[in-house]
Amino acid sequence: MVDLKQQYLKIKGEIDSAVAGVLDSTVFIGGRQVNDFSKNLAGYLGVKHVIPCANGTDALQIAMMALDLQPGDEVITPSFTYVATTEVIALLKLKPVFVEVDPRTFCVDSESIRKAITPKTKAIVPVHLYGHSCDMEAIMAIAREHDLFVIEDNAQSIGSDYTFKDGTTKKTGNIGIISCTSFFPSKNLGCYGDGGAVCTNDDALAVKLKMIANHGQSKRYYHDIVGCNSRLDALQAAILNIKLPLLDSYVNARRKAADFYDKAFSGNEKIITPFRADYCKHVFHQYTLILENIDNPESFRDGLSAFLAENKIPNMIYYPVPAHRQKMFASFGGAGYNLEKTDWLTHRVISLPMHTELDEEQLNFITKKVLEYVNR
Ligand SMILES: *Cc1c(COP(=O)(O)O)cnc(C)c1O
Repeated sequence: MVDLKQQYLKIKGEIDSAVAGVLDSTVFIGGRQVNDFSKNLAGYLGVKHVIPCANGTDALQIAMMALDLQPGDEVITPSFTYVATTEVIALLKLKPVFVEVDPRTFCVDSESIRKAITPKTKAIVPVHLYGHSCDMEAIMAIAREHDLFVIEDNAQSIGSDYTFKDGTTKKTGNIGIISCTSFFPSKNLGCYGDGGAVCTNDDALAVKLKMIANHGQSKRYYHDIVGCNSRLDALQAAILNIKLPLLDSYVNARRKAADFYDKAFSGNEKIITPFRADYCKHVFHQYTLILENIDNPESFRDGLSAFLAENKIPNMIYYPVPAHRQKMFASFGGAGYNLEKTDWLTHRVISLPMHTELDEEQLNFITKKVLEYVNR
């Protein structure tokens, strides 16, 4: 699905010397590289505070811990997402409330959020899925109306922009009260191990987020609140300091590949290519097709997946089981949910290779094989 080797080879000189620099300094935890990265990412996103941490899942957990949510408080989240988003809600003894996505954008549906609000609702976690931003203007309006926190899950969409109706544009991850992201190697800004970050414009929250990520202390061995141990290490920060300035060029390479796919599949009655809303700059973390006008979509989709695999074309189903159908959430009434759009998508989506190193020959081969199967 990704080609991290080719991407690395293009920047090998810089990466290797940065890694050697960290080894030579023996500052493996904290230090200049981590502080620089925090400032660099804040500058890129236009956000006031970036608190690096160990991974994107921790980022979500730290965010929810900082907002003082109480056991039983309800947190609204799409069911159509990666498990990390929903898992941390349950881990903190909060109640995940699963809602629908807009089947065009794959992102949480704002009307569905509105309907799910109860007196116990405290927060909304919109997930900018596959590189497409949620409709943040609508979501922020609902949050203001009902006094709810908005925690953006920006793990798949770093680099994306959202444009408001008045023409102002903000990076995703700079809109909610807190945002969370991941530097897992295959993400749009990936390091060479695990990494993540929490972002906010709120000064007091920033202090608290930083404390929580560091055992609840701001002064060493004086622990004021219950926290955890979640650090981005210096080696990963050094790598990210080299890759961050390349992020926009990486996004452009992904968009070029997406344009190629779009053109090849356009007009095919069985394929819906990814929608790009006017308000969003899509950063194509994934390139995900929806198969339609087919009698038995799930078996057709699985057939296409097997056919591509036979032809050595990687492909994935993101995600084969939506959160409300995961065993993990049985005790949260998962089976009682009726999320038709989520189920509809789950049976029809398939993601094709998407990364910065796709060339025309590969794209030609992939699209030819997809069409060969679909037009059978
Ligand atoms: C990757 C991802 C996460 C978690 O990130 P990790 O660094 O793997 O913990 C959270 N949410 C979404 C939507 C993701 O894609």
